Amino acid sequence: MAVTVTEDERARHLDVGTVVPEGTHLIGGQWVGAKGGEVIEVLNPATKERLSSVARGTAADVDAAVEAAAAAFPAWRDTSPTVRGQLLVAWAERCRAHERELDLLERLEVGRPSWGPSGIPGILTYVAGLADKITGHTLPTSMPNMLGMTLREPYGVVGSIIPWNTPGPLTVADVAPAIAAGNTIVVKPAEDAPLTALFLGKLALEAGIPPGVVNIVTGYGHEAGAALPAHPGVRRMSFTGSPETGTKVMEACAKNLIPLHVELGGKSPQVVLRDAPLERAIPTIVRAITFNTGQVCAAGSRLVVDGSIHDQVVEALAGAFEKVTVGPWYEKVDMGPLISEKQEARVLGYLDIGQAEGATVVTGGHKLAGDKYDSGFFVEPTIFDGVTPQMRIAQEEIFGPVLTVLSYDDEEEALAIANGTRYGLVSSIWTRDVGRAVRLARGMQAGQVGVNTTWSGGVIGAPHGGYKHSGFGRTMSAESILDYTQLKSVVINGNV
Ligand code: NAD
Repeated sequence: MAVTVTEDERARHLDVGTVVPEGTHLIGGQWVGAKGGEVIEVLNPATKERLSSVARGTAADVDAAVEAAAAAFPAWRDTSPTVRGQLLVAWAERCRAHERELDLLERLEVGRPSWGPSGIPGILTYVAGLADKITGHTLPTSMPNMLGMTLREPYGVVGSIIPWNTPGPLTVADVAPAIAAGNTIVVKPAEDAPLTALFLGKLALEAGIPPGVVNIVTGYGHEAGAALPAHPGVRRMSFTGSPETGTKVMEACAKNLIPLHVELGGKSPQVVLRDAPLERAIPTIVRAITFNTGQVCAAGSRLVVDGSIHDQVVEALAGAFEKVTVGPWYEKVDMGPLISEKQEARVLGYLDIGQAEGATVVTGGHKLAGDKYDSGFFVEPTIFDGVTPQMRIAQEEIFGPVLTVLSYDDEEEALAIANGTRYGLVSSIWTRDVGRAVRLARGMQAGQVGVNTTWSGGVIGAPHGGYKHSGFGRTMSAESILDYTQLKSVVINGNV
């Protein structure tokens, strides 16, 4: 009898072992176990059920991956940039052809609902177009028989460490520019969500990107992660994660004398002025802190609101928060669970801290209970009102669906509150007054400023990166691919 698989079933299930081989990682185009023979179990955070396992890589595995990447480097460097671009397009096409598995895999390991079409092919094709546009300059010379020029060359083997919150886009945001510029790469994904990066590595191979160009070494941060920036064969690093780990990676890079680019945390303000278009602002502010369960570096976690409209805005937000639907990955909900027990304990801890500091819970404030929720790491979307700028819940990154509300009296105070944390990733300004928008946008200490929007607001190729402790260096954009190259001056004496 034929078995009918309903759409609902397709949305729920993926035989993970058929997509990514169990207990392994990807080195030199081969699926191999960890040299130490150990594995890390990967769980579904909505149910705590086991999804699969990956290799528990250590320094020895990083060594093997760097060796494979170094062996692949000369031929990849010498591959025509046009061909490198074409291979990136082919990778994008493989991702499109496997969109369901790619999306479902990330949803299963992160626990998020569907967000619609994946952004990964778009990132790959954007970067593919840059591969053959990396140019140097000709330089003026003081003698007519001399020619001077600059060349942009790849570093060689580069390393990338990424977190678990959006592993697919974060993998390609590092890998694509690195390999487009002719480098080969070793990626260390997060132990909580390593499967999407492995699957992307598999699709890169299937697209014809040679073995060893993209290596994915799985493992814990203090083992495989720590070994990567310390490896003498690695010539450049990218790190995305918390400021605390970023400091450790930077220390290792300093000892290894290699450059790095760090994308760290945020405490992004949503500044709402008296004349804000509230009908647009409210749903966007709700989405900005509940999207991916608030586990986004750019999450709009602080509402900085004009005191004269405070009550009206908080009431509207509370109503909207209460309508946020929460559930497992296969339901059409707004928000899934947190990634892990550790992350749940962190968020619940901040809910206690906020109350102990004297802030008022307007809505939410608890772990979710009931059949659907008991087996996963589900918390209520929460608003804290009466927050003052010095409180820990106003200063520290919670990385959960928790919005803190702070009021201001004038524009100067709004800017001081918005800029008054150690972070500077994204700031949003909600107003119809162009003059105030321009003044505030210039005054924000943040790598991205949105006026009547958040993040990059649908802009294609907007550079992404931080000010202050949110990091330095930028991903995406036509210019930032140059960060994956080093500059060489060549002088030719024609007088021979
Ligand atoms: P984390 O710093 O704990 O871990 C990030 C990665 O570093 C993981 O792969 C982990 O295994 C690895 N790691 C841990 N210890 C290490 C060590 N000693 N040496 C080398 N690597 C090590 O961060 P997380 O909890 O996974 O992610 C959340 C953080 O990431 C938040 O602060 C968030 O804001 C930030 N983030 C920033 C961006 C951005 O673009 N700015 C994007 C996503 C996430």
